[in-house]
Amino acid sequence: MNAKKTVEDLKVTGQRVLVRCDFNVPIKNGVITDETRIVAALPTIKYLLEQNAKVILCSHMGKPKGNPLPEYSLAPVAVRLSEKLGKNVVFAADDEVVGENAKAAVAAMQDGDVVLLQNTRYRPEETKNVEAFSKDLASLADLFVNDAFGAAHRAHCSTVGVASFVKESANGYLMAKEVKFLGDAVNNPVRPFVCILGGAKVADKLNVIANLLTKADTLIIGGGMAYTFLKAQGYSIGTSLVDNEKLDYCRDMLAKAKENGVKLLLPVDTVCAASFPNPIDAEIETITVDSTAIPEDMMGLDIGPKTRELFANEVLGAKTVVWNGPMGVFENPTLAAGTIAVAKAMAETDATTIIGGGDSAAAVNTLGFGSKMSHISTGGGASLEYLEGIDLPGIAAMTDR
Ligand code: ATP
Repeated sequence: MNAKKTVEDLKVTGQRVLVRCDFNVPIKNGVITDETRIVAALPTIKYLLEQNAKVILCSHMGKPKGNPLPEYSLAPVAVRLSEKLGKNVVFAADDEVVGENAKAAVAAMQDGDVVLLQNTRYRPEETKNVEAFSKDLASLADLFVNDAFGAAHRAHCSTVGVASFVKESANGYLMAKEVKFLGDAVNNPVRPFVCILGGAKVADKLNVIANLLTKADTLIIGGGMAYTFLKAQGYSIGTSLVDNEKLDYCRDMLAKAKENGVKLLLPVDTVCAASFPNPIDAEIETITVDSTAIPEDMMGLDIGPKTRELFANEVLGAKTVVWNGPMGVFENPTLAAGTIAVAKAMAETDATTIIGGGDSAAAVNTLGFGSKMSHISTGGGASLEYLEGIDLPGIAAMTDR
């Protein structure tokens, strides 16, 4: 993919700049419970304000599916953003997003003002990338900046369509940072390059595994997805999570690893229980066994101590580490040791450490290791597609340098 313009390549002073942010923050009873994504959007907004641009912000929140549902309103984001910026953010509360309020608010803007539009997914056209809504959005602005990495794998009006109807478009700072860390790690890693995949299902990460086997020196597979690999090698896995349709795929990947000289590591021991904890954080009785000896009536729910050491040593010997997906049912304190061991090793090493968003980001932050990582991606789905080697449409649509 060609190099794309970044916000600093645009002449923004006095211009109306539409910025697509990822303000998809969790809200409970009208209160924002995690402001990470708002904070992550600030560098681009502040830069544009310093340059005296007219800053028009837009974002989706949740899945209102084309309906103006009040619980998905971005109004609380405007309030929090005003506090963070120390200046008034005008909220244009239009059910049709680009309506009378938005048009009037933009028409009244002075240089250095900020307007936030309503949730772009209030419009049914948004997720279908329908031209009419892209043109509506573009009618408010001269330039477009995409800073929503978390939505960059979606070709929607506010991430892709709008770029065709403005003079120029560019990546914001957050987007550029994500592209730099994930792009450098995958395409130009300082070696040894170790990738760690976990989480529930093999099927979710088929293409990621295939692509990483052409890039990584070591691929570590833990979490629920490991059992399909173990079964594919002929081991009995009891009642552990398995995808019987992917056994051949796993065998292919094991062969490919050998062919490419990639070290593929699977758990050598496993923490098992009689059933999945219910509720997920309920007290649970476990035993630890070798991964080749999981009892018929038990399921593997975390990696065992030998595996923790094996995986941690691999991390400590690496120069670049990318991690996506927990090593066990980390939501349960008894089954979190594997995820903690990997997070701890990543926190201790001076390698470049990258967390691929979603559950792994939540786990690392909850466990208190967040500040020790080189980069925690703000996009779970987008970072996975990046690891798959896909050109994200929300980046591809920006103006070439
Ligand atoms: P994201 O793409 O959002 O980063 P992820 O890959 O981290 O997601 P999932 O694939 O949904 O997330 O997997 C995370 C879930 O996997 C966790 O809720 C965890 O409890 C579960 N999990 C991990 N190990 C096991 C296991 N051995 N058996 C069953 N579930 C497991």
